[in-house]
Amino acid sequence: MRLSLVAALAMCACAMPLEAAVPVLVIHGGAGVIRKDLTPEKEKLVRADLEAALAAGYAVLKEGGASLDAVTKAILLLEDSPRFNAGKGAVFTHDGRNELDSAIMDGATLRAGAVAGVHRVKNPVLLARAVMEKSPHVFLAGDGAEEFAKTAGIELVDPAYFRTDARWNELQEALKAEAKAQQSSLGRAIHYGTVGAVALDKAGHLAAATSTGGMTNKRWGRVGDSPIIGAGTYANAHCAVSATGWGEYYIRSVAAHDICARVEHGKQPVAKAADAVVMDVVPKLGGDGGVIALDANGNFATPFNTDGMYRGWVDRDGKVHVAILEKID
Ligand code: ASP
Repeated sequence: MRLSLVAALAMCACAMPLEAAVPVLVIHGGAGVIRKDLTPEKEKLVRADLEAALAAGYAVLKEGGASLDAVTKAILLLEDSPRFNAGKGAVFTHDGRNELDSAIMDGATLRAGAVAGVHRVKNPVLLARAVMEKSPHVFLAGDGAEEFAKTAGIELVDPAYFRTDARWNELQEALKAEAKAQQSSLGRAIHYGTVGAVALDKAGHLAAATSTGGMTNKRWGRVGDSPIIGAGTYANAHCAVSATGWGEYYIRSVAAHDICARVEHGKQPVAKAADAVVMDVVPKLGGDGGVIALDANGNFATPFNTDGMYRGWVDRDGKVHVAILEKID
């Protein structure tokens, strides 16, 4: 029996909208901004970096490019900036090393790639993407991930590349505080700064990516939420999330997936879903931080329960917006 076009369209369960979606890009540069530490000079530089990442990522979407390419592009710029805890400028481990984690997920296909504990990969987001696209696996760690990086043509650098004096000094402060037993080795880290991006492209497809150095003074091969699919990074056909904050709590609450499950199965607006997890579920466990969350209609939210969260977006108006301390959505 031949179906009429109307009947065929009514039966189509595909996620592709009939009209091109208005592209949206939302990024973060980490929660845990401390009001008193944010000097005007630092704020200016951070804002410029966020604006540059938004402009580069949004240009991909505007030209009809894929959300996956837009989040990759935005994260690349933030990893290359020394002002965020990802790529260059990553925080130091207890042993004075930089161990980097990253993940990326394609909402349309549920393909994902992630890496943890790499210390020579210039742009961990590119390695995460290569794991997704060029390996039969989802998650590679440590030396093995770097062996794979060589075969995938990913740029490796001398570990000294990641060092900044600011992050080195943060480690010295953390070590001093630990010696005074004021802070446990995996206790509350005040200098978050992970980077993340979520995007919706014209085809209506969502993607998410996150990249981080983890937490200052981490040890024993500690891995946080950022590279764990469903904890710090998640995307499906309905929703995309990148988290930042005290990773242990985002892992235990499977935060990113919880938000998307609330959107998909609970039919909750994305802002309500993100708020419930960031302002209720995670703090009840004892954690803090924030997320950026975006739905397939271009609605998004950027809740956080810290002093501030570096973040920005380009949505329906096509303009670049950046916010740090103020809650505006
Ligand atoms: N969530 C990251 C981690 O725990 C830290 C951060 O967001 O800055 O590794």
